[in-house]
Amino acid sequence: MVLDNLSVLLYGKNDVRLEQTPVPEIGPNEVLLRMAKVGICGSDVSFLTKGHIGDFVVKAPMILGHEPAGVVAKCGKDVKHLKPGDRVAIEPGVPCYMCDYCKGGKYNLCPDVVFCATPPHHGTMRRYYKHAADFCFKLPDHVTLEEGAILEPLSVGVHACRRAGVTLGSTVLVCGAGPIGLVNLLTAKAMGATKVCITDIVENRLKAAKEMGADHTILVSSGDAEALAKEVEKVMGGMPDITIECSGAEPSIRLGIFATKSGGVMVLVGLGPAEVKVPIVNAAVREVDIRGVFRYANCYPLALDMIASGKINVKPLITHRFKLEEAVKAFETARTGAGGAIKVMISCELEA
Ligand code: NAD
Ligand code: ZN
Repeated sequence: MVLDNLSVLLYGKNDVRLEQTPVPEIGPNEVLLRMAKVGICGSDVSFLTKGHIGDFVVKAPMILGHEPAGVVAKCGKDVKHLKPGDRVAIEPGVPCYMCDYCKGGKYNLCPDVVFCATPPHHGTMRRYYKHAADFCFKLPDHVTLEEGAILEPLSVGVHACRRAGVTLGSTVLVCGAGPIGLVNLLTAKAMGATKVCITDIVENRLKAAKEMGADHTILVSSGDAEALAKEVEKVMGGMPDITIECSGAEPSIRLGIFATKSGGVMVLVGLGPAEVKVPIVNAAVREVDIRGVFRYANCYPLALDMIASGKINVKPLITHRFKLEEAVKAFETARTGAGGAIKVMISCELEA
């Protein structure tokens, strides 16, 4: 029997097509997955609208999607922890397991990682997809497949908060209230931050942040980072210990440095222009540590526990839902943010 494997392929800039692709054959340590939910990420939208992100250029048709959850359809002969029918969240980057980074536990830095929907590797927006079984995490019955898909951006929040050292009593500034800023807000709160202030240049993003537990919000309307840092200090009742920058915008990175308390930490999650002008001497003389963040390593289990235990509620992030067949419309919604879109979710399941 030939299985339907309708897939969302990006051929190049602004050229998305729905086509059949072959159902993959699995190896001994892999599982075949019947895809269920795949979230649309800002990077999928960037590949669509620009045809590249930095040096990653879409040269051949690429299946989009890397925020996936699905149901195990078939297990390779050496797979022990999963069985057909298991619902799983899929961690989309499989590293080489061999290099120093992999051996040291920092597999997010592996130069040979195969990451879904980063050229030249295909992604997960299709009916059937195969993946390394050890990068699939079984969902408890009460955790939905949509929540499973949200584990991907949520893991970015877990990694960023760990890198920043968020702990009980931390005061945190989150810059940018897109999906990534919002998952950082939720994670920082769950890890014990007592005050979280979040910024954005768009009012309705701040409204969502407030509903998700932000203690303070600041609508950024000027590029004067020093003045904004004073405003942050005023609304928070002191300078924040930690800044988690989630916009990538130069004025926002500048704000992050000025706003962070001396001896504190700023993590760079947002990826904007390759080079920006920042007040580096201010950071140096006040010992503000600036740390990079790249995806995540060993974060899926904690992200899943935070959801399963009810520590955080990610459901409000999902604002729009589309069927696989409606992918073009779904990407348009994600691109424009129409109707206050935060996370747009695609259902890959065949209608019953
Ligand atoms: P997004 O575009 O939906 O959100 C960015 C938000 O920042 C928007 O709401 C925008 O209005 C706001 N913003 C823009 N300029 C601002 C300013 N000057 N001050 C405050 N807010 C401002 O994107 P997202 O999906 O939330 O992702 C956020 C960033 O994180 C992107 O740059 C993305 O590439 C990056 N990212 C990095 C990693 C990583 O591993 N480091 C992983 C995922 C995403
Ligand atoms: Zn490696």
